[in-house]
Amino acid sequence: MQNVLIYVILAVFGLVLGSFLNVVIYRVPRKEGLAFPASHCASCGHKLSPLDLIPVFSWIVLRGKCRYCKEKISIRYPLVELLTAALFVLTATRAGSVWELVLSLATVLFLIPIAAIDFGHYIIPNKILLAFLPVAVTSAVVQVVSQEQVSLFYDSTSPFSPLLGAVAASGILFLIALLGFYLHGREEVMGMGDIKLLVILGALCGAKNILLVLLSAVILAGVASIVMLVLRKKGRKDKIAFGPYIILAFYVIVYWL
Ligand SMILES: [Zn+2]
Repeated sequence: MQNVLIYVILAVFGLVLGSFLNVVIYRVPRKEGLAFPASHCASCGHKLSPLDLIPVFSWIVLRGKCRYCKEKISIRYPLVELLTAALFVLTATRAGSVWELVLSLATVLFLIPIAAIDFGHYIIPNKILLAFLPVAVTSAVVQVVSQEQVSLFYDSTSPFSPLLGAVAASGILFLIALLGFYLHGREEVMGMGDIKLLVILGALCGAKNILLVLLSAVILAGVASIVMLVLRKKGRKDKIAFGPYIILAFYVIVYWL
């Protein structure tokens, strides 16, 4: 019963923080501040009242339309809120200690906006990566200081594990990027954002896991590209965002395998 209560509280927290993540996903790639201006409709600019801002509920009551201009509000908003709540609860079921729980929930809070922004804009903002970095550093420090496996991400308790993890997969991508630069000049083969993301995730989960994440992400992205080519959603030359596949692979491998 106590557990059920904790999960309900986490789900509510997830919905509220998911609502904040929507602001991050919309504003950070547009270089807008997070706190100001206050929440407003993206079409008509009307300031939103607290009643318009209740996670999921407002979107359903307003039938996905702005109360003031009747413009459609993307289903992305309630989906991000529900996804955050769901991942909070799922992640909590895997955590064995308070440290694990805190670090895992923090990781979820960064992975969702990174995946969404990369998917929509083909960038991973440095601001978000910089804010994410302390999570990996804290995880490494707590791990090394306490000499026990406090984070469910780790595959070993060696102090070198986070360092090796940080360079293992990112190093491979960096070499590929260098080679691409050498062969094609300015054309970017692999985004620097993906490399930085792999540094942080690698520090969190160790070398073995992050190499498995990279391999799985390459396979996932390859299959997705073929499917999109067949469905003619994308052309041969179109960009694809790699970040979401890295994140999907990371979450599944680290938490569920
Ligand atoms: Zn409006």
